[in-house]
Amino acid sequence: MTHADVLTDRFGRFHDYLRVSITDRCNFRCVYCMPEEGVAWQPREEILSFEEIERLARFFVERGVRKIRLTGGEPTLRNGYIGLVESLAAIPGLNQLAMTTNGTHLAQDAVALKSAGLASVNVSVDTLRQDRFFEITRRNELPRVLQGIETAHAAGLETKINVVVLPGVNEDEIIHFGDFACEHNLTVRFIEFMPFLDNGWNAGRVVSSAEIRARLSERFEIRPLGSGASDVAREYAIDGSEGRVAFVSSVTESFCSGCNRLRLTADGQLKSCLFLPPSVSLRDLIRGGAPDSELETAVRECLDGKWSAHPPMRNWAQRDNLTMVQIGG
Ligand code: SAM
Ligand code: SF4
Repeated sequence: MTHADVLTDRFGRFHDYLRVSITDRCNFRCVYCMPEEGVAWQPREEILSFEEIERLARFFVERGVRKIRLTGGEPTLRNGYIGLVESLAAIPGLNQLAMTTNGTHLAQDAVALKSAGLASVNVSVDTLRQDRFFEITRRNELPRVLQGIETAHAAGLETKINVVVLPGVNEDEIIHFGDFACEHNLTVRFIEFMPFLDNGWNAGRVVSSAEIRARLSERFEIRPLGSGASDVAREYAIDGSEGRVAFVSSVTESFCSGCNRLRLTADGQLKSCLFLPPSVSLRDLIRGGAPDSELETAVRECLDGKWSAHPPMRNWAQRDNLTMVQIGG
């Protein structure tokens, strides 16, 4: 087995993108992501230390991973996370280090993150209305998040906005988000609502990317930009503007054939698919003193269990998975 073979699955898909959750904790309670009462946070000792994250990141980069995205829970809540960004960004062979965040700490941290080597941030904002922001996140933080977006952009971080579109909740803001993309020269990514444990999903609550595109087209001239086989978001230019819109259509137009993603949960479990339960604890292996060869075998076995595509999601009740806050998106 060569190094690159470790990350190629039975269907020939090479996995060069690793998403790493660095905490299961969050300061928001987004209705589509976690229950209002929260989920039981894992004890600190169960969460990967920064040294363990770095060891695993190096292991994956040596075998061909080129992009790492830090996520959570809310990654900016982890004490000392900017130092982690700095050490991961310095790993030879890693081309891109990114983060997905709810934006609450960006006004304070964006400049330091840029200096530490972070390339880009995706900031989740589902509404531009204050009252509605509280209904969705159960927190009153919209001004701080908007300030964070501005600071990140000004600091030179590539900045994109993630919007989960929910019927009867924020679908009437699709055009506002198009305007926001134009005014701020940003990409707004519209994400279809996906099923996770206890998150109130049903097929009737999915606003499809096709519907969102149709609504945008009533106001804007949008033009598809070429996307790579492994790009989850299909990007569109907006005529007359630097702003863009993009669509993440996991429910209605799934993109499994080009999937290049692996996921590491905050407690070190490896997931080969967003919709499959984790299959191995890399944390337990490294805490047990496993050499890289043993990690290779475990990763291979995990990828051997990856399906060619997830089953159609319409009529799908998600049972065995974790909540989204535990996976990290
Ligand atoms: N706390 C950070 C944030 O909100 O950006 C990072 C973690 S969050 C789980 C990652 C992404 O998953 C966010 O953009 C969020 O909107 C998205 N997400 C969470 N639950 C989702 C669901 N049920 N369907 C679609 N996207 C979801
Ligand atoms: Fe927290 Fe992000 Fe989930 Fe919202 S989407 S509850 S900010 S992890």
